[in-house]
Amino acid sequence: MSQRYDIIIIGGGPGGIAAAVKAKEAGKSYVILEKGRRVLQGIIDSYPKGKKVYPTIPRNEEKPFPIPGITPPKEKIPVEAYVDQVEEFLKNDAIEIQLDEEYMDLEEEGPRSYRIKTRKGFFYGRNVIFAFGSNVPNDLGIYGEAKTVRRNLETPEEYINVSTLVIGGGNAAADVVAALSKVKREAGDHTPVYWGHIKERFEINKDTARDLGEEILLGGQIRILQGAIPKIGEVDSEGIDRLYIHQSPGLYGRDDVFMYQGMSFPMKNVIACIGTHGPSAIFNNLHLQQITCTGDICKIAREGEQLLLLSSSLQTSRRGIYAIGGSISPSHMEILPDGTIKEKKHSNLIYTAIIDGIMAVEGILNSEEQAKLK
Ligand SMILES: Cc1cc2nc3c(=O)[nH]c(=O)nc-3n(C[C@H](O)[C@H](O)[C@H](O)COP(=O)(O)OP(=O)(O)OC[C@H]3O[C@@H](n4cnc5c(N)ncnc54)[C@H](O)[C@@H]3O)c2cc1C
Repeated sequence: MSQRYDIIIIGGGPGGIAAAVKAKEAGKSYVILEKGRRVLQGIIDSYPKGKKVYPTIPRNEEKPFPIPGITPPKEKIPVEAYVDQVEEFLKNDAIEIQLDEEYMDLEEEGPRSYRIKTRKGFFYGRNVIFAFGSNVPNDLGIYGEAKTVRRNLETPEEYINVSTLVIGGGNAAADVVAALSKVKREAGDHTPVYWGHIKERFEINKDTARDLGEEILLGGQIRILQGAIPKIGEVDSEGIDRLYIHQSPGLYGRDDVFMYQGMSFPMKNVIACIGTHGPSAIFNNLHLQQITCTGDICKIAREGEQLLLLSSSLQTSRRGIYAIGGSISPSHMEILPDGTIKEKKHSNLIYTAIIDGIMAVEGILNSEEQAKLK
């Protein structure tokens, strides 16, 4: 029989880690499921290299950071050093985290009994905390699968002597193209970096454009593919997952005959920087109640946006399921003690995520106490 955890935590960011620390302190069994290869993968993926981490506390909060091991130091260290600090803390405090475990689905097996499906298997628990942050990668929208496409540039050296395709028309894609090109150029590698965007126009800021221009002038092998549309994910005769893209059609001879130019890349050589979207769709799939914003009730969220409905201890409309941190920022709907519902501002900060993690576990402990008294 598989282990049944008191608390399953989805996401190994600051919020998920704080929940695990609190669960351990309270003697509860827990597991953190993190889809990345390292703890804080969300931060590793979204912060630019060397970015200083700010220990920001929102203005209306008086409490200091509650867990020193995951508090960004006052002297603002680079993100790489912060990740090292947190890893060291987890090791010393024996906080367990299961890496490379991506949440896929949740099923209710009975009252307060959940089965979590990950890409690799199943986990069973009495309570679930969604701590997967705000960044759900956008889908490539192709026919077929594209699971092995990368989403960021972890080790540029891996791509030396490999023709690589970067997809996306914004700053994130441009940064990856420039960084890749630089590493290849410095290694004397002439294989190109293809940069494909579904539209004709790229939208990047001046600083990024300057870096990219400099890279091209220095001899970077960058090939721009405008109007490049990812079409199919397929497996070739050698069993390699490939992504086929084609460019907008040109006319061939007559008006009604189109000529397409296509290219196919091994998926592992494709980096898709095509943005992220909020977790609203995931919450919808789980039938967690969300409120659609209208001008009268929302000041922070835009008209038509869906905000998750939460109790003051961050429990969703389904018992035993909680949501915290970036996944409920920049605002959510809170049920007030008098039963009314109000939009609540929720800063997307490390501090807030940590406080949330603790609050959610306290909520679980309280509801267990109440259940015992009944
Ligand atoms: C560029 C940038 C700079 C920032 N700088 C600062 C700063 O200086 N100071 C500050 O306080 N805040 C900063 N923030 C905000 C801060 O990083 C977030 O508020 C904080 O990381 C939220 O923590 P979290 O645990 O909720 O989510 P995250 O840190 O996003 O962690 C979520 C984790 O869940 C994992 N995950 C996602 N989906 C799944 C899945 N399906 N299955 C399993 N795991 C999954 C992710 O890989 C990730 O590791 C910055 C944000 C950005 C984007």
